[in-house]
Amino acid sequence: MALERPAGMMVDSHCHLDFPDFAAELDAVVERARAAGVGRLVTIGTRVRRSAEVRAIAERFEHVYCSVGTHPHNAGEEADVTLDELLGEADHPKVVAIGEAGLDYHYDTAPRDAQAAGFRRHIEAARRTGLPLVIHARDADEDVAAILEDETGKGAFGFVLHCFTAGEALARRAVALGGYVSFSGILTFKSGAPLREIAAALPADRLLVETDAPYLAPNSKRGKRNEPSFVVETAAVLAQARGISPEALADLTTANFFRLFSRAL
Ligand SMILES: [Zn+2]
Ligand SMILES: [Zn+2]
Repeated sequence: MALERPAGMMVDSHCHLDFPDFAAELDAVVERARAAGVGRLVTIGTRVRRSAEVRAIAERFEHVYCSVGTHPHNAGEEADVTLDELLGEADHPKVVAIGEAGLDYHYDTAPRDAQAAGFRRHIEAARRTGLPLVIHARDADEDVAAILEDETGKGAFGFVLHCFTAGEALARRAVALGGYVSFSGILTFKSGAPLREIAAALPADRLLVETDAPYLAPNSKRGKRNEPSFVVETAAVLAQARGISPEALADLTTANFFRLFSRAL
């Protein structure tokens, strides 16, 4: 039976349900999201070699999907993961995206050359599978844009800049390449005015919302553990920034989600 898509349904396009923060009450966390109108969740992989754990969560809940990838923080640890290994782990009906991968020069947890090599390997996997790439970009705007432009020149692939906190130039360059931009709870912070300005100006058909839970709870719950039901607050702030109703914003971002994550039902 097909899953329902009621009007006003929201999606958390990026959370980490496999993190230990949720282990004690995963069923309750997923149920609270459903009760809040968040009808689809994508739990995002951060290590290809732990994909089985992430997939198991997606298999446990009909409306939860997952991705397969190496977070840039883990790019050194997983430098030897091959394209074939990545493709093999992604070959599952609940896997709707590749990633998260990208560049994080804020923490520089992994060597930058390993981050870049991992990023390009994930782009190739996105191209081969037709799945969108979930991109993590922090303090690396110029290099992320340059790699995206270079790689798009070799062959198109869908992507989203997740938990967007970068400058407007990166958002514009991503959109010009056909990419999407996803906003997290950071959009709701008091310090988030510059981000809200960018979010207000982007094309409506490229916007997504997410939590990145357990991190980055929105303003009213700042400092607490985040969870998928809290995406409602981010969506409300995005609606306000764009001068549209929360219902219209929900329908818009959910339609965008199903267009990009086209394997999700
Ligand atoms: Zn990330
Ligand atoms: Zn994440």
